[in-house]
Amino acid sequence: MKNILILGSTGSIGINTLNVVRQFPDKFKVEALTVNTRIDVLESQINEFNPLLVVVKDKNAAAELRKRVGDKCKVLSGDDGLCEAASQCEYDILVGAMVGFAGLAPTIEAIKRGKRIALANKETLVVAGELVTSLCRQHNAELIPVDSEHSAIFQCLIGEEKNGVEKLILTASGGPFLNKEKSELINVTIDEALNHPNWNMGNKITIDSASMMNKGLEVIEAHWLFGLPKDKIDVVIHPQSIVHSMVQFVDGSIKAQMGLPDMKLPIQYALGYPERLGNNFERTNLPKINSLTFLDPDFEKYECLKIAFDAMETGGTSPCIMNAANEIAVDKFLNKKIKFSQIPELIHKALSKMGNHKSPDLDVIYECDKETRNFVTQLF
Ligand code: NAD
Ligand code: MG
Repeated sequence: MKNILILGSTGSIGINTLNVVRQFPDKFKVEALTVNTRIDVLESQINEFNPLLVVVKDKNAAAELRKRVGDKCKVLSGDDGLCEAASQCEYDILVGAMVGFAGLAPTIEAIKRGKRIALANKETLVVAGELVTSLCRQHNAELIPVDSEHSAIFQCLIGEEKNGVEKLILTASGGPFLNKEKSELINVTIDEALNHPNWNMGNKITIDSASMMNKGLEVIEAHWLFGLPKDKIDVVIHPQSIVHSMVQFVDGSIKAQMGLPDMKLPIQYALGYPERLGNNFERTNLPKINSLTFLDPDFEKYECLKIAFDAMETGGTSPCIMNAANEIAVDKFLNKKIKFSQIPELIHKALSKMGNHKSPDLDVIYECDKETRNFVTQLF
């Protein structure tokens, strides 16, 4: 029996993780859950899964929940509460399902305890990939990717030597604007940007998928997870989202991992690894899917993808600046403060304004994130 702590249990990945846990009551037990504000959803999760501890980031919401649950479980609050859960609770696997930079601090607490991290929160590796991966080595923590592309690559690499790998090929659906011209992106609406063709996800990652910043973040995530440089990571558009990603080897052979676009699969794989757990989820019907297509991404149209490749090459705090600027820009777009096409513009402004630190420690990363947010918040 493995005990699980889910950071962000009310989000799309959090809820899917609980859907997996529900299927395997003799394999996984919920030890602790954390959320930002949604205590109604959390309360029903408490009633069903009986965690010993929950954390509600918002202090007022936490106080309200304490009244409702009484002594059924302990309720902590704030950023300190999130870190306390990760550093004190008795769990085997931490599922990193929070969105954004906020996921970094509690994830580091789990790494320092040498836990398994089932990581969905890609921003953690984007902003602090070097530090996070070296801490994992130092503390023998296991980083198992939940992001479907990285789970696919992780699976393709099993049984292979690192020097046999020629390149990683990340697939991208192309999002809702695949068939639009760059000039048409200026006036797209929030609803259009949130209307992802294949995946049902939280708002932030859905907007990132429309701008293809999501793929940019994933390129950086892949760089840190698999230790390969920029010229060994390719992106290919694959609108059906059936091939989740591929690895090309030095003999020209390509291995792909396929399946329906359903996050339960990579989540279950990360929880059960190295075991493959049998399930009765829907199977992929290839004749029904009929054709799988692939095309090159248009880096001029998907400016954010280019920004991410460049930030990765520059290194240092560049990916952190890019990420913070993107988080604020997406928030501004969702609050009707800027147009969709201004997202890359804000990121460019932040990258040219903020100085780059070559080998940042954690304090520098926190400071850089905060300063970039302040700078981008006051633009427009
Ligand atoms: P979401 O917005 O649906 O859920 C986010 C969760 O984090 C919620 O439970 C929320 O309460 C919590 N949260 C948000 N901000 C917080 C804060 N400041 N402090 C504490 N808790 C906070 O997001 P999601 O779609 O589930 O994505 C989560 C992460 O997984 C993201 O990093 C995303 O890029 C990654 N990811 C998601 C998917 C997907 O299918 N949804 C796929 C691959 C990777
Ligand atoms: Mg992904």
